[in-house]
Amino acid sequence: MKIIDLEKIKFSDDSRLNFDHDLSKLNWFNIGGKAKIFLLANSLNDLSVFLKTYNNRGKVFILGAGSNILFDDHTYEGVIIKLGKNFNNISKLNENLIISGSSCLDKKVADFAMENEIEGLEFLSCIPGSIGGGIRMNAGCYGREFKDILVSVQALDFNGKVLTIPSDKINFKYRSSNLSKDLIFLSATFKGKVSLKENIKKKINSLKSQKDASQPLRVKTSGSTFKNPIDQTNKKVWELIKESIDINEANTMFGDAVLSEKHCNFLINKEKASFNDMKNLINFIKENVYKKTGVNLELEIVITS
Ligand SMILES: Cc1cc2nc3c(=O)[nH]c(=O)nc-3n(C[C@H](O)[C@H](O)[C@H](O)COP(=O)(O)OP(=O)(O)OC[C@H]3O[C@@H](n4cnc5c(N)ncnc54)[C@H](O)[C@@H]3O)c2cc1C
Repeated sequence: MKIIDLEKIKFSDDSRLNFDHDLSKLNWFNIGGKAKIFLLANSLNDLSVFLKTYNNRGKVFILGAGSNILFDDHTYEGVIIKLGKNFNNISKLNENLIISGSSCLDKKVADFAMENEIEGLEFLSCIPGSIGGGIRMNAGCYGREFKDILVSVQALDFNGKVLTIPSDKINFKYRSSNLSKDLIFLSATFKGKVSLKENIKKKINSLKSQKDASQPLRVKTSGSTFKNPIDQTNKKVWELIKESIDINEANTMFGDAVLSEKHCNFLINKEKASFNDMKNLINFIKENVYKKTGVNLELEIVITS
């Protein structure tokens, strides 16, 4: 891919363009090779200038906090874009509305809502991703999802056009939506209801304790690997995995890729798992669950290629 013209781009807001950039430190699994082109875009202006010059010559992938991603060990032959400082602001619009940049971490938005006595966003404190990743995944837990709090999304298409999409025009499903893959989410407006800080704090603490009790902590994971197969069975995915695989068996280890004993839908990179180790473990689980239960598991984590 030709990159000489990209090297000459002058950014006005300190955005950074790197070539052959290591991706393994930019995701929770700590797995992955390099990005042929990596852009840390600090402003909408810099992002637009880059996209105009890049002119759809290759693949584009938007990286949030990297908490739901498995990167390939091969070089990504395109551009990986991460949104930087000007996408990290939050403001209160009125008594129950918040606008947040898409690189803000969900936890920061939950805390902001609590400080401003806006209730309903507590579940965000349990999801380690960014607002952009949460919109893409329709992330959620404990009965709430992004779709329940979203008012509208501001996005940029790969041709540099800015759009505002009201949430009632988006068809959200469990961990997905019909939002085009060719959109970069810039910011989002969320609604809650007026409440008291103390009540919100209690709810956050209660959700966090539930989360800490049920999921592995301080490990290299990307959270739930597979979606609950809600259209095939009422059983949760972890129940199906437990029924199908003896997770203590040595043959469930692929290199350093293992199942978490605390929550078997969480896969862990113990130390130096490669992309192939993790992919082999994923395929092993899929095959065994299908053989035992007839359920075809679908990935929740995003695998780049
Ligand atoms: C310990 C742990 C616990 C977790 N618990 C939960 C949970 O309870 N509920 C849940 O739903 N998920 C959970 N997850 C998964 C993950 O945190 C969520 O899916 C999260 O929303 C991903 O956000 P991210 O910013 O990390 O996205 P990334 O992993 O960086 O990317 C995910 C997807 O979003 C896209 N994307 C990211 N930013 C943008 C943007 N600005 N514009 C367009 N597309 C974008 C990416 O291209 C990719 O397709 C957990 C993960 C971990 C590691």
